[in-house]
Order: sequence, then C-alpha cells, then structure tokens
Amino acid sequence: MIKIDHLSTSYSTINGPVHVINDVDFEIYDNEIFGIAGESGCGKTTLLKALYDIIEFPLVVDSGKMILSGEKNGKAFSYETGQIRNTWWNNISYVPQAAQSVLNPIVPLKNQFLDSICKEDKKKKTKEETLKKVADYLEELSLSPDLLNAYPFQLSGGMRQRVIIALATFMSPNVVLADEPTTALDVVVQRGILMMLMRLQKQLKNTMVIVSHDMGVHYQITDRMGIMYSGKLVELGKTEDIFEKPLHPYTKMLVGALPRVGDKSQKTGIPGRPPALTNPPEGCRFAPRCQKATDECRKTVPKFHEVEPGRFAACHLLNDTTV
Ligand code: SF4
Repeated sequence: MIKIDHLSTSYSTINGPVHVINDVDFEIYDNEIFGIAGESGCGKTTLLKALYDIIEFPLVVDSGKMILSGEKNGKAFSYETGQIRNTWWNNISYVPQAAQSVLNPIVPLKNQFLDSICKEDKKKKTKEETLKKVADYLEELSLSPDLLNAYPFQLSGGMRQRVIIALATFMSPNVVLADEPTTALDVVVQRGILMMLMRLQKQLKNTMVIVSHDMGVHYQITDRMGIMYSGKLVELGKTEDIFEKPLHPYTKMLVGALPRVGDKSQKTGIPGRPPALTNPPEGCRFAPRCQKATDECRKTVPKFHEVEPGRFAACHLLNDTTV
C-alpha cells in the first residue's frame, strides 16, 4: 500500500541542510493501523508530511521516494512522491497535529465540509445532496448533523477533533494519516478519539498511520509500529511483539518507562537527550545514551535489517542473528 523507499529529507537553513529523515525504508500494509513512535524531534511529523507529499521549501527530498498504491472502486492506482497530492482526500487524507486549530473558527462547518471534499463528488451531486450525505455520515459516527450549522469556536477541543476526523474520512480514503491525534485532550476524550479511529478503520478496512510520542496510544490501537530515533527507523514489528520483547536498546528503554497496572517499581526516564540533527554522532546515533555501546557502535552505523521474520532493527548487538 505505502512503500517508503530509502527516503532521506532535509530542511534547508542558512547554516546548511538539517537532515531530518535518513534512509528510511519500510512498507505499510493494507488494512492495518501502523504506529510511528519516538521522542519529540525524531522526525515523526516530517516523515508523515513526506508520506502526504507536503514537500514544500524548506523541506527537501534528498533521495528516495514514497509509492502509494492500491485499488478503489475496482480501479487500481499508483502514485509516487510529487503525484500523491493529486489524490488528496480521495485515496489519502491527513489529520494534522493540533488539528483542532485547522478549522476556520468563523466559517460554519457545513461550508468547510463543502470546501474540502473532492471536486469529482461536487460535480456529481448538488450542494444539498452533498450536505445530506455529510449529515448521514456524521450520524453514522454518532455525531449530531446539527453540527454542520455550528461554528468551530462553539465546539470543545474533543468535538473539533472528531469533526476533523470525520472530514478526513468522509471520502473513504484508502489511507488516513493522523499526527498526534490525542495530544492536548484529557484522558476520557483521548479514549473516545482512539475508539473512533479504530471503529473507522474496521469499517473502511483501510490503512491508518498514527504518529504519537505516547507509547500507550500505540499499545491500544496499532497492529504494527516503527520506532524512530534521531531521523532513523531503529525498530519495526508487530506492536504486541515490540511490547513483549523489544529488541533495540532504545525501544527497551521506552517500553520499560511505561507504567503498568500493579507494577510499583520506580520508573526512570532515558538519560541524556537525542543528538542535534545538525551534528549527529558518526556511528550509532543512540550510542551516547546506550549502556551497551562499544567502540564499533561509535564508529559504524548499524544496518536496519530483518532480525526475525517481520521484525526489523538497527543495532550491532543483533547482527549475529541476521536472517
Ligand atoms: Fe547501543 Fe550499539 Fe545497539 Fe547502538 S548499535 S543501540 S550503541 S548497542
């Protein structure tokens, strides 16, 4: 469905390029919820923007590409980086970070739905027919159709987030990308949003890509996940396997820091901080924070490889078990 083919991107700055995504190479499948996790600044949002083809200066693709392919209404499609934006809303849609701020506060929601849906649908239906379809869709999602006459400033943050998700899924896109969909919401509302995303994925049988720094979000709703560190993918696999038996030292620390019911042990954070992307370490980027780092780690970049079927990681300690 989505092939990320050795992608590297950077931001152009007056001090030279800042390499934010470095040779990321993996696939996201049909009919799955895929999570992308990692600390703030590791490149998650930039990767999602690249997936959605929002490649606008100062963001530059240095090498590699994305391929979005699949089938909709019996027609096969395939788009690459530079073409993906031609199929926004129809085959792929995006719920940006702080999505609640995306809606124009002084425009009624019905106008924002009409402005956003794809041109073909507008050609086929009258405005009234389209609004009826939107109202039916909101009802399907347990949202009141009366919302269409409301202004965004009249809604709570959680309700605005639900509306944005409804907007992003209205055209039944094959892929929905969501950037930190539960950030800044209280835990009860967070749970409601996660349940809504899961229900929609089951209904549409599409692909959802969820970016979140919150490992609890990934544990609850994703099927597979990738862990990013300093612009690189360091581990990828089924979510349950990653939580049960993390392979990469960074993933072990992330999983170990999670509070669990009944576990009274003292939790510690990960010491140190990620390296500056303007000047990353020469070998493994995690070496300055890794208790198992060796001289080889400090000199050579570990290869991202399949450690066991469906399980990938980049760590010299795992090289002996390379398939
Ligand atoms: Fe730690 Fe070395 Fe593995 Fe990097 S390659 S995570 S420094 S053991």
